[in-house]
Amino acid sequence: MKPVEGGKYKCAKCSYVYDPERGEPKHGTEPGTKFKDLPDNWRCPRCRKGKDLFRPV
Ligand SMILES: [Zn+2]
Repeated sequence: MKPVEGGKYKCAKCSYVYDPERGEPKHGTEPGTKFKDLPDNWRCPRCRKGKDLFRPV
């Protein structure tokens, strides 16, 4: 089973869930932005950890 691209991703550190349908407008991420399309320097808006800590949910 490979992860579904374009799905939600959850932060392993703080359990924040990134929902690509909603984006993160307060932090400049437009709704509809897939997790894999976020910049490499994107950080969890809650705990500031990097993308490598996120897992598909
Ligand atoms: Zn986090």
